[in-house]
Amino acid sequence: MALQFDHIVFGPIHSRRLGSSLGVNLLPKHGKICTFDCIYCECGWNADGRDDTRLPSLDEVYEALESGIRECHDSGVPVDTITFSGNGEPTLHPDFPAIIDRTLELRAKYFPKAVVSVLTNATRIGRPGVREALAKVDNPILKLDGASDAFARLIDQPQDPHYSVRRIEREMAWFKGDFILQTMFLRGERDGRRFDCTDRRHSDAWVRMVLRLRPREVMMYTLDRVPPLNTLQKVSVEEMQEIARPLIDAGILVQIKG
Ligand code: SF4
Repeated sequence: MALQFDHIVFGPIHSRRLGSSLGVNLLPKHGKICTFDCIYCECGWNADGRDDTRLPSLDEVYEALESGIRECHDSGVPVDTITFSGNGEPTLHPDFPAIIDRTLELRAKYFPKAVVSVLTNATRIGRPGVREALAKVDNPILKLDGASDAFARLIDQPQDPHYSVRRIEREMAWFKGDFILQTMFLRGERDGRRFDCTDRRHSDAWVRMVLRLRPREVMMYTLDRVPPLNTLQKVSVEEMQEIARPLIDAGILVQIKG
């Protein structure tokens, strides 16, 4: 499977939801490094990206970002959002807090109305520097795919054997609801074991967890591109709408992407 991002800064890409979005990849250009190894990851398996483990330096990120943003500004190309995603987990970059500070300075200088978003699997929000940096951006988008450790081990494959959903949930409480929760919904089979995110037992536990967390927004999504494990299937928008109903009734904003 091909890696998605072979530059530090890419785009802007036009998206209906985000408008003109400039992407930032803090991970290797030709490798993948992540604290998860999700079976649905669009970047492929962690093991496939081990030939390139070099992270860009703080200065390289700044230069790429400065030149990308300035180029858009000078040529009249709008930038509505600056989004950190890339080939793995962006908060693994040792200079992540400084990179966020510099990004906010560049945003203020060139596109003060642009929104800064970070997509993270939340495994590192227990670190004060990481969570404080995330709290500075407009959209900290934190992933939590289910309410149980067994399910996380099945589909997210955390690399830390001590990964605990309860601990992440406790750490998410630090944001006092001022974050966006992102959850993948899918069904399929892995190692002979069938699973389905629309099963009531799974979805009810997830809904209870979201009601405890009360994020300002929930993003539910399903497979978009071909995943590394070919036994996976999308779930329908209607199925996600059904699961989301108690959240919407509780006044939580829910976005569903089919
Ligand atoms: S957290 Fe994101 S980058 Fe990491 S393995 Fe999962 S989908 Fe891929």
